[in-house]
Amino acid sequence: MNDRGEDDGADLLALADRALAAPGWRLVFPARLEAAFERDTSAGRCRQLASSLLLGVLLYDAFILDDVILNFGHIGRMMAVQLGIVTPLGVALAAYIWRRPPKFWREMAGVAVTIVAAASIAYFTRIVPEAVRLPVMFSLIVVIAFANAVLHLRFGYALAGSLGMLAIFIATMRAPPALDWRIATYTAMLVGAAIVLTLVANHRLERQLRRAYLFGLRERLLGIGLSETNRQLERLSYHDPLTGLPNRRLLAARLAELWDEGEDAAAIGMLVIDIDFFKAYNDHYGHPAGDACLRAVATLLRQHMRAGIDLITRYGGEEFLAVLPGLDLEACLRIAERIRAAVAAARLPHRGRGENDLVTVSIGAAAVSPRIAANPGDLIMWADAALYQAKQAGRNMVRAAPAAPGA
Ligand code: GH3
Ligand code: MG
Ligand code: MG
Repeated sequence: MNDRGEDDGADLLALADRALAAPGWRLVFPARLEAAFERDTSAGRCRQLASSLLLGVLLYDAFILDDVILNFGHIGRMMAVQLGIVTPLGVALAAYIWRRPPKFWREMAGVAVTIVAAASIAYFTRIVPEAVRLPVMFSLIVVIAFANAVLHLRFGYALAGSLGMLAIFIATMRAPPALDWRIATYTAMLVGAAIVLTLVANHRLERQLRRAYLFGLRERLLGIGLSETNRQLERLSYHDPLTGLPNRRLLAARLAELWDEGEDAAAIGMLVIDIDFFKAYNDHYGHPAGDACLRAVATLLRQHMRAGIDLITRYGGEEFLAVLPGLDLEACLRIAERIRAAVAAARLPHRGRGENDLVTVSIGAAAVSPRIAANPGDLIMWADAALYQAKQAGRNMVRAAPAAPGA
């Protein structure tokens, strides 16, 4: 894997594996993984947080009915706090969260609404009649449960918010008129238990959420790796490793495709290109130099192909085959001649038997419409026969297929 994106994927995969093996109490991932987690989950988190906040505000406002029905007194002041402070703040912060702010501000907005709601309850505790003071104070437990389990603030924020609410609760209890110490202790125990239990639930939920993310991420990254491996395998199986040109398998597939599509009468041209006296080249320069020569010729051939239309393949040892869709024999002969001249003009030395001691090629050309030839094998046969003629005529030659119907 040498592409940067794949490296990142491999790194993330290793980080995900390590995070899955980390101790259960640890929630926060290493920085890069945490950034990926935040990026992949923030949209859903914002939607969930904003909609939960609105639900909470709605429920909070439903208690206005209680104020009226139960006639707690100070109804005007209570409604002013509920409708004038807590509700607009909750709605405004829900709208803010909806617009996907950074994690810190998003979670802090949730903390802020719950703290303000808790403070409003503390205030109500001080102004309601003595008889309902305790039940009003207990409604703080609902706010705690809402913050930690429904808003499901990320654990650190849930903990900070809970401590803030506990401080508000303690201050409220200590304010005169003082509660009976047994009632105060019992109430404090209840609020404390609510905080501990909802924080445990909060931690478990976040841990499950994060583990589910890690499993999903692993699956996604492994899937990407697998499809990349498949692509590489496919590339290998359709290409010649020495020259990088497509091989006979890809040629067969392309020809079959052309013959399947070949309803119009357009001819398909073909060139069989063979390096002259290549055995002698190998004998003289050695096999590695022969390989380099094959690569140089392959590069030259590639330059004469129309991108996205023609196909040049390594057909065998020092033999190449070009498919030129839509070209008749005359056009094929022109291209073949251009290729022959270009190889000679490259002046690759060939001490021994090459013409003027240079590497040369012989080319056989043929063209036929798939409507006329039953199968692509016939076209290859004709082009090969033409190549034989070019060799017979002395090499470094181009010849047309003698019996090609397209001639
Ligand atoms: P002709 O002009 O008639 O084509 O003669 P030739 O010597 O080119 O043809 P022949 O078929 O006798 O020899 C082909 C040579 O190509 C033999 C083989 O060693 C060489 N060859 C085939 N594949 C490779 C290869 O991958 N690398 C190298 N270096 N040589 C190869
Ligand atoms: Mg040869
Ligand atoms: Mg040959």
